[in-house]
Amino acid sequence: MRRPEKAAILNLDWLDLVSAPVFVLALPGTAVVRTNRALRRVLGPGLTDAPMPLSTLIGMDGADRVAAFVRTIPEDGSRNTLSASCSTAKGPANLVLHLTRIPDTDSLWAVTVDERTLFFDGTASDDAEETFRGIIQALPIGIDILDSQHRAVFYNGFSDRLYLYDGYCDLEMTEWFERAFPNAQARGVARRQWDDAIAALDRNPGEPQVMEWTVLCRDGLSRVLHNQMSKIGSHYAFIYWDVTEQRRLEGKLRQLAGTDMLTGVCSRREFFERAEHILATAPRGGLDLCLLMLDIDHFKAINDGFGHRIGDQALVAVAALCKSALRATDILARFGGEEFVVLLPHTRLHDAGRIAQQVLQSVSARPIPTAAGGLHLTVSMGVASLDPDEMDIDLLIERADIALYAAKRAGRNRVVTSQEPASPSMA
Ligand code: GH3
Ligand code: MG
Ligand code: MG
Repeated sequence: MRRPEKAAILNLDWLDLVSAPVFVLALPGTAVVRTNRALRRVLGPGLTDAPMPLSTLIGMDGADRVAAFVRTIPEDGSRNTLSASCSTAKGPANLVLHLTRIPDTDSLWAVTVDERTLFFDGTASDDAEETFRGIIQALPIGIDILDSQHRAVFYNGFSDRLYLYDGYCDLEMTEWFERAFPNAQARGVARRQWDDAIAALDRNPGEPQVMEWTVLCRDGLSRVLHNQMSKIGSHYAFIYWDVTEQRRLEGKLRQLAGTDMLTGVCSRREFFERAEHILATAPRGGLDLCLLMLDIDHFKAINDGFGHRIGDQALVAVAALCKSALRATDILARFGGEEFVVLLPHTRLHDAGRIAQQVLQSVSARPIPTAAGGLHLTVSMGVASLDPDEMDIDLLIERADIALYAAKRAGRNRVVTSQEPASPSMA
């Protein structure tokens, strides 16, 4: 066994022949044994090739990260990439380091600094290319450049913070997809989208490809990323930005627009959207679809007698009673004021009439609790079924409404079923 001190005096002059920035690290004391010329160029011209503590080269935090990380590298040398915030002689930088054990030594590691992500925050530079690189690095969007073989040849700071998983050995897309999409099915879908986007760009380079992914990021959080891929020459530019918050707010808005604020049942708008969807996706042979239209009897008297607030409580209670008398697949919506509609999928008129009776009884069976005490309420209902020849939701509503009006005229607290439409088979 060769002792570390002996290893440290190995001839390391060859390091200056390597064009990538490299330093040699001796463990466990985390001493930098040697730096090469390329490293001194990128990390600070004031550095010498004399041994120094790792913390002098990359700061205390960076040195601690490296010392902890190196212990996790498996024997086979895989998962050897670390991305860490470091403080260097040139200023703070996020360094991507590849650590490789030097053969025939006990404790010497060659550490390569990945120049693809090198960026010094706040470093004023007169060098146009370095300034431009700094701007690209600092953009609040991710930029990855892939070569014609789909290997990453550049990734910026945003991309690094989001996706450069610790221990990553190479920008092998297979491994990247495994980390970003732990769910195999989602991974399969994303991988196909990726392959399709590349194929489409190869066919038509002028048309950027867009995809939206929910990915697991290196900080353990899932984010929604909007991705756009373009082809520039033989290279592919993969640009993406975080739309997590935007999508969350959109979802919330959609939910609010779809819900009646007072009763929590579907809004009128949501009702029409769902009804149209059911009609649009109906099988060719038509479908058994019924509609109940429900109106609270003499509701104005509740408001007049007990006030609007008690009226509101009664509306909430009636909605809850209706819901509990219905099936999970039935769509209950507040149509307006004290009027509700229920769409009953896969239901024939006879069964719809039976369900309507159950709803009617559940409302009138016992007093409805409010802050003003129990209120006796009744409802009137109209029932109609979809005419397979019409397949029109407005006509269905119209027939249920006529039946409801008939129930009101006949004395309220009752269900009236619309005339069964003449179906072709019965004609
Ligand atoms: P009918 O049996 O013929 O249906 O009589 P009705 O009193 O129920 O019908 P009308 O259409 O005359 O009155 C409905 C009342 O519902 C009038 C309106 O103030 C009340 N209303 C509508 N929306 C709300 C609401 O959100 N909250 C409360 N508290 N009352 C409402
Ligand atoms: Mg009413
Ligand atoms: Mg009404």
